[in-house]
Amino acid sequence: MFEYRGFMLDSVRHMQSIEEIKKLIDALKVLKINKFHWHLTDDQGWRFESERFSVLNTVAAVRPYSDFGKTYEYGAYGRVYTKAEMKEIVSYCAEKGIEVIPEFDIPGHTSALLSAMPSLSCTGENVKIKTHQGIFKDVLCLSKEETYNTVTAIIDEFLEIFPGKYFHIGGDEAPSESWEACPCCQKYMKEHSIENYAQYQNCFMNRIVDYLESKNRHCIVWNDSAKGGNLDKRAIIQYWKESPKPSVRFLNEGGKAILSPFSYCYFDYDYNITPLNRTYSLKADLPGLTDKGRQNILGIEGTVWTEYISEDTQLERLVFPRLIAVSKLALGESSKPYKEFLNDVHSIQKQLDSISFCDEKLWTKPRAAFVYGWLKYVKEHITKDFIKELIK
Ligand SMILES: [Zn+2]
Repeated sequence: MFEYRGFMLDSVRHMQSIEEIKKLIDALKVLKINKFHWHLTDDQGWRFESERFSVLNTVAAVRPYSDFGKTYEYGAYGRVYTKAEMKEIVSYCAEKGIEVIPEFDIPGHTSALLSAMPSLSCTGENVKIKTHQGIFKDVLCLSKEETYNTVTAIIDEFLEIFPGKYFHIGGDEAPSESWEACPCCQKYMKEHSIENYAQYQNCFMNRIVDYLESKNRHCIVWNDSAKGGNLDKRAIIQYWKESPKPSVRFLNEGGKAILSPFSYCYFDYDYNITPLNRTYSLKADLPGLTDKGRQNILGIEGTVWTEYISEDTQLERLVFPRLIAVSKLALGESSKPYKEFLNDVHSIQKQLDSISFCDEKLWTKPRAAFVYGWLKYVKEHITKDFIKELIK
């Protein structure tokens, strides 16, 4: 059994009510999942109420409309969860033996933060909060002490609400375009003999790791941060991007990891792309791991990103039953043949009678179904803004 058995919920792209989150937490308890990773900041919104930086609660929290392809939504969207609401979730989880791990995603995925605090970017120019999915060049300027001071001040506020031992600082999908064009970033890299942008990012992440360790908290970062080769070994990588080499090296050299490979553990994808039988086939291993490296796997996490998920029942159908497969692997109970596992799924489904499960006809698919799944994905997810940009 792994000590870390997780579920991640994206409450940025679409929010869930406190009642819905509690309903999901009830289900986590049944599945013996003990970590609730709560994704609270991103390009399309900011969900953490800040007393110190109230501009985050207004400017960063609200996007003017939502253009997520098939789910185009007119009108302003978003708000922060109040401190009282977040505390309610923390204590609800604590009663059930579940730790809440908040995620403050830096230095990329920060358009919403920068829309409220443009001075933290390389140019200082106005940044727009994003209305669609993507990887955006608006990232934090890592050469400014103001960035470090503001990020740590925000982290301090997070720590007052979330008492757990883990803290997620993102670290994924941060393009280097802005740093390449920024004289201050260039000067900083030269002065510190930093060879490339992956290392540059990690120099900053390592300062945050150090800061959080001084507060007795352990950082989790997405495995994009393993690429630089200089990530502090006290950080724990979350393996989502299925490019194992840097992560394997990190583990073999003594670092720790949580596994969430996207082609198994990303539940926002259609069942044609990631059927239940595929999720159940996941092994807690990576090619090239030594025995010692394998022992550095702390656990498994299932995730759900919500660009395309605006309804609670839709969310539940995507998560269940696939999260059961993740929980079985994390509990060390995934050696049964798939058919026997399905009997377990049926009995858990009976216990979770308030949750909407995906229709059983869709659970199990041959691998070839992913071709149809991807075609459907592309068709449904092309946005109006994307078409406009293409025409331009
Ligand atoms: Zn810069």
